[in-house]
Amino acid sequence: MKITNLKCMVISDLHALLVRIDTDEGISGLAQVEASKHSYLKPHVLYYKRYILEQDPTNVERVMLRIRRLGAFKPWGSSVSAIEMALWDIAGKTAGVPVYRLLGGKVRDKVRVYNGGDMPYSPSGLRREGTSPEDYYNHASERKKLPGGFTIMKWGIGFHSTMASTFPEYHYGEQPLPPTQPYLYQTGLTTERGLKHTIACVKALKEALGDEVGLALDCGPGWKVPDAIRLAKALEPLNVMWLEDMITGDYTPYTLPDIYRTVTQSTSTPIHTGEQIYLRQGFQGLIEKHSVDIIGPDPCDVGGIMELKWVAEYADMHGILIAPHGIGDGPIGLAALIQVSATLPQNYIAFELPNVGAEWDGLVKGLPKNAVKDGFIEVPDKPGMGIELNEQAVRKRLKEGETYFDS
Ligand SMILES: [Mg+2]
Repeated sequence: MKITNLKCMVISDLHALLVRIDTDEGISGLAQVEASKHSYLKPHVLYYKRYILEQDPTNVERVMLRIRRLGAFKPWGSSVSAIEMALWDIAGKTAGVPVYRLLGGKVRDKVRVYNGGDMPYSPSGLRREGTSPEDYYNHASERKKLPGGFTIMKWGIGFHSTMASTFPEYHYGEQPLPPTQPYLYQTGLTTERGLKHTIACVKALKEALGDEVGLALDCGPGWKVPDAIRLAKALEPLNVMWLEDMITGDYTPYTLPDIYRTVTQSTSTPIHTGEQIYLRQGFQGLIEKHSVDIIGPDPCDVGGIMELKWVAEYADMHGILIAPHGIGDGPIGLAALIQVSATLPQNYIAFELPNVGAEWDGLVKGLPKNAVKDGFIEVPDKPGMGIELNEQAVRKRLKEGETYFDS
């Protein structure tokens, strides 16, 4: 079997970049580039075509050796990751088995997911109005009632929310200058009022959730070390599941393992990071130095699903847990997350359910609607990743000037 083409297309209103690898045997593999606003990566995905043409896609690792070094931390690892997942889709379809069988088989028949959708575009349709303790309390009370029976939910606080820019004098640092995309980054020592406000918001969340739903918090990046320690210690009585990305995080092209280790060793509150990190080597320092309690690689950024599995196994050997990131992975990324999470070792907690709302209705086949029951998704048994596009529906939604996979 040989790779004959690598194609991309952008679904207009979703800004979603879809990838397809074709072969001489008529079997194709599908994937999706992480994050809905990353359609600018189309030429980046196509750049790799020259290196993978004529290769046997079922020798996944041999193909990946040709392109893996040509990627980097988010967003520059997402193109390589998408190609890896499309190759596994082909390998599974060719063998007539779901991808998990090729990764060593299932450890679990259903995978736990967590709800991280504390955003205006959340598929829950529930919007948090502001960043007061009352806003958090009301939002948590509503989100708790969401269908799916989620056992873990995540909220953004501090520098991972508008709190840092809307609460008066939240911190002593500079306000970011426009343009602030793709990520609003702020940093600074927090004021006492800012820190107290943050703690009050977390207490309000706990008040609403009780101990029925585990509370995870996405915090940064942006915290200074003394504040990170003070916040983590102050929250110790609340038993939060983890504090995510306090030091480095989204769009940070390095990991600072020694600084994370200082924070983690100072508190019993679990510390989490890793969504932007590329490759096992990117995680090496954090894992070997026991710098965090939980890692959160995203299969669509780390270099693909096999790379994620390797990182998970290595973390497990070091007593570190894993809760993969996935909010922007879309429906095809969701399919990949299910396949790989079924195979992960027993340091697995849950993966973050991608934001796949009604805007995707009718575009993909293979993912059951309302798939989350009691906080879990059942692992499907269809060949490959088990997902297909509805070509006619997709054609109607393509960005102007785009054709269906360049055809
Ligand atoms: Mg995060």
